[in-house]
Amino acid sequence: MKTNLVLDHLTAKPGEKISGYMKIINTELEIPVTLICGTQEGPAVLVTGGIHNAEYVGIQAAMELCAELDPSKLCGDVIIFPLVNRSGFEHRTMSMVYEDGKNINREFPGNPEGTTTERICHTFVEKIFPRVDYYMDLHCGDGYEALYPHVYTLGAAAPDVNRASDAMARAVNMDFRYPSKNASGGAYNHAGSMGVPGILLERGSRSLWSREEVEADKEDVRNVLRYLHVLEGEAKVYDGVQRELRDGYFLEADDTGLWYPCYQVGDRFEKGALLGTIKDYMGNVVKEYYAQVSGILLIQTISLNVLKGGAMLSYCELKD
Ligand SMILES: [Zn+2]
Repeated sequence: MKTNLVLDHLTAKPGEKISGYMKIINTELEIPVTLICGTQEGPAVLVTGGIHNAEYVGIQAAMELCAELDPSKLCGDVIIFPLVNRSGFEHRTMSMVYEDGKNINREFPGNPEGTTTERICHTFVEKIFPRVDYYMDLHCGDGYEALYPHVYTLGAAAPDVNRASDAMARAVNMDFRYPSKNASGGAYNHAGSMGVPGILLERGSRSLWSREEVEADKEDVRNVLRYLHVLEGEAKVYDGVQRELRDGYFLEADDTGLWYPCYQVGDRFEKGALLGTIKDYMGNVVKEYYAQVSGILLIQTISLNVLKGGAMLSYCELKD
């Protein structure tokens, strides 16, 4: 007999879907959540959008999944938070939490007595991660950021959790999967450290969203749910199409200044190629960045400015 899906004051009975708000511990903040309770026993799957509130593809896809997933076709439960950083969204920050200017995906496991961001992180660690079996986190390029679609897997959790994460990623229709070296800090990384296999999808750029990208995100989530036998139907696996990238380079800007990148995301380049230049306000070259390996550009800052210590480029070695 399938059990009810209960979160705070919200209860979904078998075959039911209910939407409401979850309170963030020790704050006045409430964030939207949809509980979808299947008719048969099965795993509990968490889906989040809007951990970065200006990454709209994932937010819109998660919103539509809340409306479209049919509980009568599920074995298990699906819990969807379409907009985790609600206060950032309502103040149109570029993905930082409005109250404290922090990035949710750097602050896990959080702290119940900390700033708002730390309390949001703690709420997920306390209330959500212990009760789910799998996790999918939906992201996109922020307003200053372009990216080539890719899926992150767990690379620093327990071996069986890493393997389960890798298998989930193979059911995502993207060319590249990339194992993260982080054991915590990010939501899915920290959930992984608690034994929850998860993946993070990156699709879309510059805070733009399109019907095509939203549909692609939704189909990936549905396909992973099929792979996990939570949603009925045959799952596609993209073995042979998708490649694993291992050796990644995340570059932060050494100075604040004007940024002139040489390539676009998805471009390939040889070792030693000039990737971009930072100039000062007089037009003088401050710093040039050269590729340390032959690779592919995955993420790039495309705003005219880069900020000292801020993300600038992410590329990966492409062998053969
Ligand atoms: Zn993000």
